[in-house]
Amino acid sequence: MKLAARMEKLPPYLFLELDRIIEQQKAEGHDVINLGIGDPDQPTPPHIVNALKEAAARPANHRYPNYSGSASFRRVMAEWYQKRFQVALDPLTQVVGLIGSKEGIAHLTWAMAGPGDVVLVPEPSYPVYYTQAILAGADVYPLPLLPQNSFLPDLSAIPDDVAKRAKLMWINYPNNPTGRTAPASLYDAVIDRALSEGTVLAHDLAYGDITYDGVDSVSLLSRPGGIEAGIEFTTLSKSYNMAGWRIGFAAGNAEIIRFLELLQDHLNCSQWGAVQEAAIAALHGPDDSVQAMRALYQKRRDTFLEEARRSGWLIPPSQGSIFVWCPVPRNFTALQWTQRFLEEAGVVVAPGTGFGAQGEGYVRIALTESEDRLVEAARRLASVAAERLDLKS
Ligand SMILES: *Cc1c(COP(=O)(O)O)cnc(C)c1O
Repeated sequence: MKLAARMEKLPPYLFLELDRIIEQQKAEGHDVINLGIGDPDQPTPPHIVNALKEAAARPANHRYPNYSGSASFRRVMAEWYQKRFQVALDPLTQVVGLIGSKEGIAHLTWAMAGPGDVVLVPEPSYPVYYTQAILAGADVYPLPLLPQNSFLPDLSAIPDDVAKRAKLMWINYPNNPTGRTAPASLYDAVIDRALSEGTVLAHDLAYGDITYDGVDSVSLLSRPGGIEAGIEFTTLSKSYNMAGWRIGFAAGNAEIIRFLELLQDHLNCSQWGAVQEAAIAALHGPDDSVQAMRALYQKRRDTFLEEARRSGWLIPPSQGSIFVWCPVPRNFTALQWTQRFLEEAGVVVAPGTGFGAQGEGYVRIALTESEDRLVEAARRLASVAAERLDLKS
């Protein structure tokens, strides 16, 4: 079988060898703790599940949904923006429902970029920005997120000829995988640049509700010029533990929203009407579940870091997201360190290089297990780390 040329440009699946080792460890009866993928472990709050049950019985929901989300779902998206970020949006033209934000990220890329165009992608980052650009035939120009720049992109480092060809630029804070948040000034700088260069700005706000130590996240649309400069993706997957439900939305520049609707029209409809009703219940509903979730992750973060610190393994605290970005010893690659952890500690982490070359030197730990399990994982990891780092001197 000869695949389309674009398929050959996709990076190899980094977790393949790890998956093999995980299977082998389990088969040998080892207790494997998986902190590798960012899949929320808590159940969806019951009032949302109940909304789905009721909506499932309504015959109107048994028909094709429209292409942009029901009128009531769109109204609730706009209301949510008003309540959450004090941003006023037109529910008819400035918001669109999505079958998860991953779908929207893909469609936006296809709508904006093709051969000869450049997509500016942070590195490390959620891999979908990169892989969609590649599938669209566009060139990717990485924006390194480095510790010396607080994991923010250095816009002055983008060469003029690249900037001229750049059609789309991605940012994502609270950031996956680094766990960092960004100040309002970063948004102002990228908006300014996007508007002057004619580049569309896309902000992935997947972890907008998950920040720590009392710091809130920033909406692109709340900054001057933000709505004109681009769009923002919000998902219910993380804020409401609804990853399996596949529901999210995009908001911002009406012209871009129209392209997303057009692509949905040609590719699928929107998400099932009953799931849209459940999403309405989530966005409308009391936000105690969101607060409880934020507190739960912060507690897990603190417990994990404290336990690691006890063994001398110092990991900088995340400011948001559900991840901890841990430096690995200099004489190991991220992948080697990941394999060590798996083979010697039975703990699965994600090698930083799974998020781009700049992720070298780090592994990502997802806080998606109970505190007890995270303590156990931190102890096991620290014992491997201490040995390799010679920490217990
Ligand atoms: C989890 C995640 C998503 C995926 O969201 P879905 O709505 O479930 O597709 C998008 N962006 C980032 C950065 C994520 O970590």
